[in-house]
Amino acid sequence: MNIQNLIRPTIKALKPYSSARDEFQGNSDAMVFLDANENPYNNGVNRYPDPQQKGVKAILSEIKGVSAKHILLGNGSDEVLDLIFRAFCEPHQDNVISLPPTYGMYEVLANLNAVEIRKVNLSETFQPKVDAILEAADAHSKVLFLCSPNNPTGNSFSTESVEKLLKTFKGLVVIDEAYIDFSTEKSWLTRLEEFPNLVITQTLSKAYGMAGIRLGICYASEEILKVLNTIKPPYNVNELSQKKAIELLNNKDLAKKQIQDILEERAVLISDLATISFVSKIYPSDANFILAKVDDATKRYNQLVEKGVVVRNRTTQFGCENCLRFTVGTKEENEELIKNLLLISKS
Ligand SMILES: *Cc1c(COP(=O)(O)O)cnc(C)c1O
Repeated sequence: MNIQNLIRPTIKALKPYSSARDEFQGNSDAMVFLDANENPYNNGVNRYPDPQQKGVKAILSEIKGVSAKHILLGNGSDEVLDLIFRAFCEPHQDNVISLPPTYGMYEVLANLNAVEIRKVNLSETFQPKVDAILEAADAHSKVLFLCSPNNPTGNSFSTESVEKLLKTFKGLVVIDEAYIDFSTEKSWLTRLEEFPNLVITQTLSKAYGMAGIRLGICYASEEILKVLNTIKPPYNVNELSQKKAIELLNNKDLAKKQIQDILEERAVLISDLATISFVSKIYPSDANFILAKVDDATKRYNQLVEKGVVVRNRTTQFGCENCLRFTVGTKEENEELIKNLLLISKS
C-alpha cells in the first residue's frame, strides 16, 4: 500500500499557507506578538487560536490512548471528511464507495467535490457485502467509507468484514466511529499501526455532548495526516471551541456517567417501543439511537410532530422503508415520546 500514489497530484505539489502562528512556535508566555495583525487588547479571543490545537490533542491523546501525532482536528468531522476528499479524490476522475443505508454526508461531499460515489448496499442484516464492495472498486477507488456503528441502522460492522476490507481494498478505508462510545465493540484505534490505509473519524458531537462547538477528530498515520495538514485551513478550530473542549474533556467522569445513563435509557426505550402496536420491528442498536419499523413512517412522524416530538423519518433510505430513528433522550424526554406514541396508537 503506497499512500503517496493515492494523493492527488495537485495536492502533492501544493505549498501550504504558512500562518504567523505556524512560523513562530515557541514558549508563548514571555513573547511580544506583533506578527499577526491582531488587536493587542486582551478580551480572551483577540489572538488567533492554536492551528495545531495542542491542548485539545493532549487530552484526547490521554483519553483515547493514541499519540497526538496521530490526531488531526476539524471543524466537525464533516470538515475532516471533506479534507479527505480534497486530498485524495481527483474531481471527475476518482471515485469513492459508500454502503447505504448510511450517513448522508459522504454522498453530499462526493457531489460537492465532483467525485463519483459508488453505492454498494448493506446486506439484509445491514452488514457490508465484502465481495460486492471489492468488485465495485477499481484503480480510481480512493476511499471506502465504513460507518460503524452505522447511522441510521445502529449496528456495528463485523470485525472480520472490516479486517478483510482493510487488507484488500486498494485505497483509504475511513471508519466513521461517531457512535463508538456507545458501542460494545472496540474502536479500531488500537489497530492504527497495523493498517497504513486506515483512517478513523470520531467526534465530540455525540457522546461527549459538544455538538455546538463543532469538533471532529481524525486518527491516521503521520503520512496521511501530513497531507491533510497541508490543506486544512490554518485556524480551523476556533479558540472558544478549543477552550470549551479542554474544559469539558477534563471532567472525565461526566461523559462516562452520561454514556452509562443513555445506555440504560436505551434499554428502557427499546422495551417500551416494543409495546407500541404499530411498531413492527426494532433493530439492535450499538449507538445512542434506535431504528424501528412502523406501519406508516410518514404518518407517524407527522402525528408525533403534532404532539411536539420530533424524530427522524428514514423511510426514503435504502432498506429503511417505514423506519423512524429515535435518538435516546433523557428519561423524561423518552417518557414523553412513549406517552405520545401510546396516545397516537389508541387514536
Ligand atoms: C453525527 C455524525 C457525525 C458527526 O459529525 P460532526 O460534524 O462531527 O458533528 C459524523 N458521522 C456520523 C455517521 C454521524 O452520525
